[in-house]
Amino acid sequence: MSFSCKNYDYNDDKCLMLKQDCIPGRPGCVLEGRIALSEALMDRIKALEQKKPSGRTEKK
Ligand code: SF4
Repeated sequence: MSFSCKNYDYNDDKCLMLKQDCIPGRPGCVLEGRIALSEALMDRIKALEQKKPSGRTEKK
């Protein structure tokens, strides 16, 4: 990565603020709306959104 972010955890390659993978420009990121996302970054964000659980859980 060619920039420095105070929220980036170099040991874990994660975002300390979002407690998720660091993907610059992702929703909730300090850079959201401030940078133009490359196709590669947009693809990573889309892939993460598809991996998200629906939020629903079945009752046992
Ligand atoms: S996701 Fe955004 S706020 Fe979090 S570490 Fe990466 S660049 Fe920083």
